[in-house]
Amino acid sequence: MPLPISRLLFYTVVMTIQRDLSHLKSMKETEERNAVYAKVLVEEWAKLAQERGTLAHAVEGTTMRHSMAGKCARQIHYYLTVGDEGITNPFDLPAYWSTGLGTAVHGWWQAALGNLFPNAELEKVVHLPQADSSGHVDAWLPDEKIAFELKSINGFGFKKIQESNEGPRYGDFVQACVNAYALDAERMVLIYLSLEAISRQRARQRDIDEVGRIAKEFHYTPDVFTKVAEKEIERWNTIRERGADTPRAIPDPEVPAGARVIDPSTGRLSSGTYAWQCAYCSYQDLCASECDG
Ligand code: SF4
Repeated sequence: MPLPISRLLFYTVVMTIQRDLSHLKSMKETEERNAVYAKVLVEEWAKLAQERGTLAHAVEGTTMRHSMAGKCARQIHYYLTVGDEGITNPFDLPAYWSTGLGTAVHGWWQAALGNLFPNAELEKVVHLPQADSSGHVDAWLPDEKIAFELKSINGFGFKKIQESNEGPRYGDFVQACVNAYALDAERMVLIYLSLEAISRQRARQRDIDEVGRIAKEFHYTPDVFTKVAEKEIERWNTIRERGADTPRAIPDPEVPAGARVIDPSTGRLSSGTYAWQCAYCSYQDLCASECDG
């Protein structure tokens, strides 16, 4: 039976609205208002983050920060020689936003851990005099001798870690190893918390449980993290010795072995592939100005 005209008209109007709202005048006005308020909010938010400043070194006077572990050798050289004053590529607004999200997630997680384990030491300071380095461990259980490293991560990165057998991201892993080593831990636990949950449907298809949709946990014992930490400390010492001669070498296994960055402005490697790390490096312009390929 054919539909009455009034019903047909109703469907036509509803379908049109669902497909495209751009013709609606009020929508355009809303976008214009967002461009004003969203912008000032984001800028104000970044200003507050700037005023809080960069976290000082965990132990005053040490030259190396454990959060630099696993990074490009040349980047570490710049950090050790020109420091924060020599940064040529400071945070942009999205970087302040994503770093702030990570800080907020850390706060929630540490509050929960503190409730469950009243003896937990949060943001525990660690110091390696032989490496002239220091850092903060997200949480430390002194009786069990467990060092926790927590990383928040975007949905794309989390899916990669949760759904593959590739393990944690290299830099996170090395940083956690150095911290656990500094504490002489008996166990190191690295936890990823995703800023976006894996959908129920996707999780069902891949047999991922409820917690696994937002979190992934890795455990390591001293036989693993001691070797990694000692190798990293040795690398820092070599960087100190080589000074301005330090190569543009990124130790991440994603970068082909032996490849060097030959164009820091794009991250082009001698292998012909590209390193994403350069685009997020605070010294990218300085490095590019000193690089002759
Ligand atoms: S721009 Fe790239 S090669 Fe240069 S220091 Fe930064 S990460 Fe290393």
